[in-house]
Amino acid sequence: MAEVILKNIHKVYEGGVTAVKDLSFTVRDKEFLVLVGPSGCGKSTLLRMIAGLEEISSGELRIDGRLCNDMAPKDRDIAMVFQNYALYPHMTVEENLAFGLKLRKLPKEEIRRRVGEAAEMLAITPYLSRKPKALSGGQRQRVALGRAIVRKPKVFLFDVPLSNLDAKMRVQMRVEISRLSGQLQTTMIYVTHDQTEAMTMGHRIVCMKDGVIQQYGTPMELYKRPANRFVAGFIGMPPMNFLPCEWLGETLMIPGAGSTGLRSGDFQSGQKTLADDGKAPKPMMGVRPEHLRLERASDGTGGTRTGIAAEVEVVEPLGAETLVYCRAGAHRAVARVHPDLAVGRGDQVLLYPEAAHMHFFEGEPS
Ligand code: ADP
Repeated sequence: MAEVILKNIHKVYEGGVTAVKDLSFTVRDKEFLVLVGPSGCGKSTLLRMIAGLEEISSGELRIDGRLCNDMAPKDRDIAMVFQNYALYPHMTVEENLAFGLKLRKLPKEEIRRRVGEAAEMLAITPYLSRKPKALSGGQRQRVALGRAIVRKPKVFLFDVPLSNLDAKMRVQMRVEISRLSGQLQTTMIYVTHDQTEAMTMGHRIVCMKDGVIQQYGTPMELYKRPANRFVAGFIGMPPMNFLPCEWLGETLMIPGAGSTGLRSGDFQSGQKTLADDGKAPKPMMGVRPEHLRLERASDGTGGTRTGIAAEVEVVEPLGAETLVYCRAGAHRAVARVHPDLAVGRGDQVLLYPEAAHMHFFEGEPS
């Protein structure tokens, strides 16, 4: 049962920078948890505190039931995989994999067995006699993973491990790590600034900003019910569209770009269209690109139609879908449309947000 419990964890660096503020969450046994957020939000600091590489200023860290605040890293039974691989350049792949086990004086036969198993699992058996410099970035990353796997730790920690790889290799390794996590059935904590990795790999996500948890939940919870505008804009690619809005009587208008055609009765009671005081309408609407229907203004019945009036600026055909970037008055919005929709730069279009998938936020800067 390698559960990791963080309770009111706080970190102030020497010199006074507060990197992590009163943070609490639990990583369940065998869970793949992703810590995600922009650079500087405190993810690595948090991971390093769990690893024992950084002192915890206050709060409690428990791994497998034991209080670990002051426990030496080697006694925590965790393995960490870094971005820069940290392989020993003068050792072969096999020696790199075996090194930690030799230090711990495991029997030779056991070392050989574990190294063989890990190499098979990661498809690096043909490279066992090579030195790291004779490997590609992806192969080195596999060796770094292998070095963690052979130790059979209670918890794996990953610190932005894929950011050095090219785009194609990153996708491959992402799938590979997810597959490994299913196979190994070990608790994993994975730090990244990449929302796609968070969405695709995590059983659950902790989304952070400025050392504070913004939301903690499954990828789809964060995607469908973002707790605030920061999470709404951070999770999802292309990001959610934000457009200032105002109610004209019962109708939702986009100043300078016309009417959405939606009325207050079109929204469900759970969708908070009003500010906390219950009176003022929230001034910012959010809608994801796939929930913004796009029609050419020249189609249909012309002048009588409502919809947000926009002009197409860029069309990005991606094969399975097309992204259409538009300007609506002083604002910009992107719609994800069917690849067969004939639309080009300079076209006048109408955008229709789907009421059931809209979010409303206070007008704070993102
Ligand atoms: P992230 O991993 O999300 O990019 P970090 O955990 O590296 O963020 O950093 C969080 C904050 O702590 C940043 O403001 C960073 O400048 C600061 N910080 C990180 N390491 C140190 C350090 N050793 N001394 C002082 N401040 C640090």
